Amino acid sequence: MAVHADPLRLVIGDKAATRLADNLDIHTVGDLLGYYPRRYDKRGELTDLVGLKDGEYVTVQAEVASASSRPMRNRRGTISEVVVTDGRGRLTLTFFAKGRQDWREKELAPGTRALFSGQVSSFRGKRQLTHPEYELLGTGSAGVRAAEYAAELIPVYRATGQMQSWKIADSVRLALHSLDVPDDPLPLKLRQRLGLYGYADALRGIHRPVDLADKDRAVLRLKWDEAFTLQVRLAQRRLAAADYTAVPRPPVEGGLLAAFDAGLPFDLTLGQVQASAQIARDLAGEHPMNRLLQGEVGSGKTVVAIRAMLQVVDAVGQAALLAPTEVLAQQHYRSIASLLGPLGMAGQLGGADHATRLTLLTGSMGAPARRKALLEAASGGAGIVIGTHALLEDRVQFADLGLVVIDEQHRFGVEQRDALRDKAGDGRPHVLVMTATPIPRTVAMTVFGDLDMCTLTELPRGRAPIATHLVPVAERPHYLARTWERIREEVAAGRQAYVVCPRIGDEAGGGSGQDRRGADRSFEETAGYALDGQDEDDGDGDGAPARPPLAVLDLAAQLSEHELAGLRVGIMHGRLAPDEKDKVMLAFADGLIDVLVTTTVVEVGVDVPNATVMVIMDAERFGVSQLHQLRGRVGRGSHGGLCLLVTEAPGESPARERLAAVASTTDGFVLSRIDLTQRREGDVLGTAQAGRRSSLRLLRLLEDEDLIGQAREEAVELVGRDPALAGYPGLAAAVEALAEHERAAFLEKA
Ligand code: ADP
Ligand code: MG
Repeated sequence: MAVHADPLRLVIGDKAATRLADNLDIHTVGDLLGYYPRRYDKRGELTDLVGLKDGEYVTVQAEVASASSRPMRNRRGTISEVVVTDGRGRLTLTFFAKGRQDWREKELAPGTRALFSGQVSSFRGKRQLTHPEYELLGTGSAGVRAAEYAAELIPVYRATGQMQSWKIADSVRLALHSLDVPDDPLPLKLRQRLGLYGYADALRGIHRPVDLADKDRAVLRLKWDEAFTLQVRLAQRRLAAADYTAVPRPPVEGGLLAAFDAGLPFDLTLGQVQASAQIARDLAGEHPMNRLLQGEVGSGKTVVAIRAMLQVVDAVGQAALLAPTEVLAQQHYRSIASLLGPLGMAGQLGGADHATRLTLLTGSMGAPARRKALLEAASGGAGIVIGTHALLEDRVQFADLGLVVIDEQHRFGVEQRDALRDKAGDGRPHVLVMTATPIPRTVAMTVFGDLDMCTLTELPRGRAPIATHLVPVAERPHYLARTWERIREEVAAGRQAYVVCPRIGDEAGGGSGQDRRGADRSFEETAGYALDGQDEDDGDGDGAPARPPLAVLDLAAQLSEHELAGLRVGIMHGRLAPDEKDKVMLAFADGLIDVLVTTTVVEVGVDVPNATVMVIMDAERFGVSQLHQLRGRVGRGSHGGLCLLVTEAPGESPARERLAAVASTTDGFVLSRIDLTQRREGDVLGTAQAGRRSSLRLLRLLEDEDLIGQAREEAVELVGRDPALAGYPGLAAAVEALAEHERAAFLEKA
């Protein structure tokens, strides 16, 4: 009997096991049974041949239309050509042989149906498979496997040249045959209540379904495994976290926080007041706060975070603020320093009594500055330490870390949060996580399911809404000229503008390190929910022009020469040295630059309230949330904002629909759902889930919202009753495997 962790060769033999390992990275029985079919062919229903793409490995069910052979022209031997069809499209199969191949013509006589597997190519305008493997589907000659195909549905696996779909199916059959599931991961009562398949049934049903209903039940059950295991793990974490003690940091009267509030140039919104009150209560508690603050772009999350940090500093603790980019870390450092004024200048000339100090720690800092920052953190001299992921490094230590704030992120997985948390020594620090844009409920439940949540929905009063318009260059070329004119008008009125391009330009070696959709994919420069890292051909071939994406360096040169001649045009991108970036941002914030031509380095968090126009070039290359986030860089003051989405995508394309959606609403919650429909789950879930093999394979965050919610309730209830899962060995093992998977993904990324 085989169980999940067993090596495959015990079940299917050395040869097949080696092939699966080499080609598909499948090593254990569990790996193989987790390799689900990518689709099912109905027996007798031919595969659509018209949609095949060059270069793809395909497995198709088709019928032979004709077969013929002829001698090769320049060499000895024969070519046999077999044309197969689905009734509409045709595909030519070519076989070369040293001798005659009459047997093949006989085997593949017209009318014969078979599965054919190979790589699609084109030859003289005809689609073909060269030397495909095939598997006859008739009775008689199909031999041993005929019975296997008696079922209505034929599983089709993602195959490679060496490993055809039916060979995978063969191995799966053997594995299923000897599979032993001593402990079902889903509790019996739950299964009974919901009418779910047992685990072994589900695996059989997904690999070898009798019919579609059978497959659907199997999928439902396996989705439950994914959702439930994850939610149990999150519920356990939440419970365990509540068990830890933290140093209570109650508000102190007449402290830094009070002074900060007194100096605030605006009133807090109701949402900010409520979130702050909740956080203040959490911080005063004896158990660590674990809270997510999510909110609309521009809703003012930073102020809430600063207030929390000051409360902790007042209570003689330290706070760390982790920002996703260096630009943002620097901006936070500067703006907090200026907000605090003398309150942040302890021991310095002009520093107030009871003042604290701020320290910045980033990866690019020189050794002396770095040493100083490390010392400030470790000695407790700095009450607030602001930094990038450099803060996660082992050598960063704190005297008394009371609060960790993680800004504008959801890409930090559980493991990264732990890495910072561990820096608090014996007790645990309070943790506040902030997202860059609103996130859909299911994402919140899956990524942050172990956190309490609060949400800022409203924007500060007095904000004029951001108007967003499309500039469809294909149909209305003169709109582009108008775009540059608008920038001139705004600058004449004393305002500033961003022009965003997808690419930096002038790449040595032809643009390596560049993402086709966003720019600057390095961890430093991309972050947040808006990060767009698709590497598959879905979504961006939908209207983007064939030329390379527009580049910052080219466009900046052109604009300063022509359209925006006379204006002060600056550039900003990920290849600038860190201090150069800082200089540029500072100059822009101080109004010394009118127009900043930039990549998406400014996407997250950058706050220059005097900027009122955001022009996004090749806008179809950016994701929905990313556009929303970019647009959030303007309209942050009282002057209103204008966002122009410049695109060459044609009118009826999916790209244009996406852009129209962004233009039609400024509701980040609505857009986050649209965004979710366009991305793979791994992109959304980030680190842990985007590992080599995602632990969420069947679950879809949008479609399965109800299931995920239900799984969460069930998980919380069960973990409340039996936190250690003592009565559920199968579940305990599944949860442990998931944790292991997350750790592996974390290490892989680190
Ligand atoms: P986000 O939630 O996107 O991180 P920020 O915290 O950067 O937003 O705040 C956006 C801008 O709004 C900042 O310039 C900030 O100073 C300002 N702001 C925050 N709260 C208020 C408020 N209650 N009234 C007016 N302006 C505010
Ligand atoms: Mg922010």
